[in-house]
Amino acid sequence: MSDKVKFQAIKGVRDILPPESALWNRVEQTAREAFGAFGFSEIRVPIFEKTDLFARSIGLDSDVVSKEMYTFEDYEAAELVELRAAAVTFVGAFGTQEGFVHFTTLVGNFLLAAETAFHAGHIPKTPENERTLQKGRDLITTLNTYRYQGDREILPRVGELKETVRQVKFGDVISLRPEATASVVRAYIEHGMHVLPGNVKLYYIGPMFRRERPQKGRYRQFYQIGAEVLGSSDAPGIDAEVIEMLMRLFDRLKLKGAVLNINSIGDKNCRPAYVEKLRAELQKVREQLGADSQRRIETNPLRVLDSKLESEQGIIEELPRIAEHLCADCRAHYDEVKRQLGLRGIAYQENWRLVRGLDYYMRTTFEITAPGLGSQNAVCGGGRYDGLVELLGGPATTKGIGFAIGTDRLVLSLQEAGEAETSGGPPGKAGGPDVYLAWFGAAAQSAAIGLARRLRDVGFVVELPAVEMKFGKSLGFADRLKARHAVIVGDDELAAGVVTVKRLSDGSQQKLAEAELFSYLRAH
Ligand code: AMP
Repeated sequence: MSDKVKFQAIKGVRDILPPESALWNRVEQTAREAFGAFGFSEIRVPIFEKTDLFARSIGLDSDVVSKEMYTFEDYEAAELVELRAAAVTFVGAFGTQEGFVHFTTLVGNFLLAAETAFHAGHIPKTPENERTLQKGRDLITTLNTYRYQGDREILPRVGELKETVRQVKFGDVISLRPEATASVVRAYIEHGMHVLPGNVKLYYIGPMFRRERPQKGRYRQFYQIGAEVLGSSDAPGIDAEVIEMLMRLFDRLKLKGAVLNINSIGDKNCRPAYVEKLRAELQKVREQLGADSQRRIETNPLRVLDSKLESEQGIIEELPRIAEHLCADCRAHYDEVKRQLGLRGIAYQENWRLVRGLDYYMRTTFEITAPGLGSQNAVCGGGRYDGLVELLGGPATTKGIGFAIGTDRLVLSLQEAGEAETSGGPPGKAGGPDVYLAWFGAAAQSAAIGLARRLRDVGFVVELPAVEMKFGKSLGFADRLKARHAVIVGDDELAAGVVTVKRLSDGSQQKLAEAELFSYLRAH
């Protein structure tokens, strides 16, 4: 007897079911409209990219790249996989002629097949792969000079050869995207969008993937709605308008209690000196810091400012602040961003500890928190990333700024505030169909199919039973589905050229011709 298999969604990912999905649609549709009003257009970028793209842009020392990405090698080399497995799993007496020849033949077979695949372009034609294959050949030659010297001499060389064989790359190393800015910038460069007039304004909507510890508001597949402005201008008015656009979206969604935090983290002229100063101060208090912060003294001292650890708060308050170390240009830029926010009537809080987790940010950074989210209360993060386009191989003159809203958290905050009930999907769908179309008899079924089609074509939500049911059962269904009206088509109605309409809220009932039915349904 076999056990019943029961599948469940993987830890950290989840299903979004109706009616909640209607709220998601409303949020996404509102974002399309709000962003459209500011001249933004949608870009759709792939769910996976070469790992290097993320490593280079987000930074090797960031948590996202160092421990949270879903990464795998993407290849079709089934034959090579088998040949390699045979070579690296071989165990035998290498000091005997039989064992030695067996092993070197297996490795030789693999290298030959890998070289053929390399030249045909079936495995990546990279300098690394070329070097690894050559090293494999050289090691076999060396190994030959140790022939019959016994396992003790040969085993270390065998180990090295096996390791080399393992290093041959069969395909690109790719990752599920942990965020989308890198992809948008990659696409901007790849498609030569820098020649477009003015700033390029793009938004995206979709899932992101990070292997984080799941909790409320933190998932391994989560969703973002983000926008980016790319172009030659870094005018502070752009920063302010991007933030204004966000706040307008939250207004349209009736998100209450959103708080905007802003900061400037300097640029490549002034930040390095500040980071060194910070590092030096952190060294002095190293022993009082937790393990994460201690590690970050070397890797990324700015991130220490992010720490939520209770015991570190007093220490952090005493650390040097970036605001006192900005160069004149960064200071002027920041002051103008604040003035421009003022022009737009946007309230903000300055938060000198707002540094953001990704490496590419510079100058303006911002974050928006929303109520009802517990400790994961950041609903949106963003900032300026002027060097990123150049870092990824694009023109050095291109500047950039953008943000990403965590859709899961935005929806959660709206639900907590009770916005969900009043903001379902289309009117009919929120409570059930407009019409439950009950039919009785074969002739009535044919008439009902036609009527359902005409009703749906003008926008009514219609539920049409797939099989004939007894009258009472059919009307019972209409009730359970919370239909607004039952429309009944039977032999009597067909003969008279009418339908019976029953309003389910009060049971009132009347016979109407089709033309009257439409205006009746619109009015009731
Ligand atoms: P980031 O790309 O890290 O700047 O994040 C931008 C926003 O995405 C955050 O403010 C969150 O709202 C959201 N976010 C980031 N990571 C997660 C996650 N694991 N689960 C849910 N939302 C997330």
